[in-house]
Formats: sequence, C-alpha cells, structure tokens
Amino acid sequence: MMSTKIALVGIGKIARDQHVPSIEASPDWELAATVSRHGTVEGVEAFTDMDTLLDARRDIEVISLCLPPVPRFAYASSALKAGRHVMLEKPPGATLAECHTLGAMAKRAGVSIYATWHSREAARVGAAKEWLQNKRLRSLKVVWKEDVRRWHPGQEWIWDPGGLGIFDPGINALSIVTEILPDPVHLTKAVLEFPENRGTPIAASLAFAHPHGADMSAVFDWRQDGDQIWTIEAETDEGTLVLSEGGATLSIDGEIHAGNDTDGNPLHGEYPRLYARMAELVRTGGTDMDLAPMIHVADAFLLGHRVAVEPFDW
Ligand code: NAP
Repeated sequence: MMSTKIALVGIGKIARDQHVPSIEASPDWELAATVSRHGTVEGVEAFTDMDTLLDARRDIEVISLCLPPVPRFAYASSALKAGRHVMLEKPPGATLAECHTLGAMAKRAGVSIYATWHSREAARVGAAKEWLQNKRLRSLKVVWKEDVRRWHPGQEWIWDPGGLGIFDPGINALSIVTEILPDPVHLTKAVLEFPENRGTPIAASLAFAHPHGADMSAVFDWRQDGDQIWTIEAETDEGTLVLSEGGATLSIDGEIHAGNDTDGNPLHGEYPRLYARMAELVRTGGTDMDLAPMIHVADAFLLGHRVAVEPFDW
C-alpha cells in the first residue's frame, strides 16, 4: 500500500506526545514536513511558514493542525485554499462560524476535512454507545476534574479568550456524551467560575434538557488535587453504566466490562484511530465535521452565569 504524505503543523505538546508517534506507526502515512515557528521533528523537513510549505511541497496532500484553537483558522483556510485535505485537533476552531466556514471551503474545494474528537476513540466509548442504545435513560452525570498545573504546565493560551479554560478538557467529556447518547440534548443552565485575573473559566457546572426528561448534569474543575476524575455515569431502566478514566474503562452495575481493544497494538489507541479514520476519509472523499460538542460549549458561554473566584497563578 502507498502511504500518503502528511504535514504536521504546530509542533508542541500534543504533536510530540501523540501525532508524531501515531503517524510514524501507521503504514497509511509518511510524515513529510512540519510547520512550526520553533518546533521541529528530527529527520523531517521543517518550515516556519505555512504558505512556504504549501508552495514548496505540492506533493503533500494532507495537513494536520495541532495548534491551539485561536490561530488554527488562518492555517486551515490556507491549506484548503491550496487544495489540501485538512485534519483538525479539537476543538475544530475558536468559534462555530469559523468551523462552518472551513466546512464550506472544504466542500467547494472538493477535499476532506475532519474535526477530530480524540476522546471518542477511547477504548470503551464504542461499547458504551452500543449498551445505551434502546435503553431508557434516567440520569446522566459527568464529573471531569483534573489538575491544570499537571496537564497544561505553562500554557498561557488556555487562559486567553478562545482558549476555552476548563472546557479544553470538558469538551472531551462532551464529545463522548454526544457520541454515546442516542438522543440529542441541549444545555439549559451553566455556572462558570472565572479566576479574577483570567479570561477563561477554571470550573463549570452545566445542566441539560433531555427529550425524555432524564436528569443530566456535568461538573468540570481544573483545581483537582490527588486522584484525577474523568467519569460519565448513566443510570437507565436496565442498570447503571459508568465510563471512567476518560472512556478507557467501562462498568455496568459495578462490574468491569473488559474489551479486546486495549491490547497494546500500536495501531490501536485514540490517535492511531483518528489517523486511520483520516486515511479512510481521504480515500473515500468523505468529510466528518461534527460540531455537537462545541455547540454545548458555545451555549455554556452564551447562557453561563459568571462567578469571579480567586486568581490563578502557576
Ligand atoms: P501547545 O503545545 O501549547 O501548542 C502547540 C504548538 O502550537 C506550539 O508549540 C506552537 O508551536 C504553536 N502555536 C502556539 N500558539 C501559536 C500561535 N499563536 N500561532 C501559531 N502557532 C502557535 O498546545 P498543545 O497542548 O499541543 O495543544 C494544541 C491543541 O491540541 C489544542 O487545541 C488542545 O486542545 C489539543 N490537545 C491537547 C492535548 C494535550 O494533552 N496537551 C490533548 C489533546 C488535544 P510554534 O511556537 O513552534 O509555532
């Protein structure tokens, strides 16, 4: 099988931790270039400017963007204008309108665009989705609590407008919820806690309306010491499902449901699955631009009651 040439843009934490190893482990892809103002990948041609890359390397068909959300649109639109397929880290943009614009540009250019949601690829999310089909949901509770100092050391952009604050991890939980629930829901209430010296929230609590009246809530917090919690609990008329560890572990009525997809195979795991899906989209001329998780985040900012809390410093 021929591999497809891909360029990685924004060589920072997630590019190094996940994108580079996933691309290198896959027969679908050849990492042909990078674009980053400071970062490089050993042995790979490095550019510091997007337009120079697009001009110089017309053999590269696919651009994968690992930048923070605010600068991403300019890079994505240049790539689409140059007729390249585009893969977007989550969230797919800084605003919903940007994302709609990118989707329309891709359609016009006849290329694939993929708004990735890595948490949807966590090992037990598919099994949770299957189990919830045809069951009556009574309640759903999301608890996503982690220590920002541990997971985002020194990342100032997360505190600037468009950086999402606690919704940077919270949108991962929402990406799972919108994947596993058979029915669409909408946000009805939000309380957002903003450190008084920062432009994005450090904590949020949300409530949602469910079409059959299930009680739905989410609590996100970046001030968690000790155990980190990434849990979704769904109570149904036929038992209680708990997805924990960000979707890696599933239990039903307290019993762990093990799957065979946590087998250490380097082509499995969240990011390898995203790259396999991108390869399929490019092969089939498809597009996957589901904005449901981001709609809930935008609604939380639209409807949220803002509370000032103590300043945050690293
Ligand atoms: P990061 O390391 O802070 O940033 C990635 C790279 O983007 C930086 O190294 C920088 O490279 C470039 N960049 C930053 N600001 C820029 C700007 N204003 N203009 C142009 N380039 C800029 O961030 P990250 O943690 O990798 O996160 C990037 C995206 O991945 C986010 O959307 C995040 O939600 C998502 N993500 C992160 C994680 C995680 O664990 N960190 C997990 C899953 C998804 P240069 O300075 O070299 O240009």
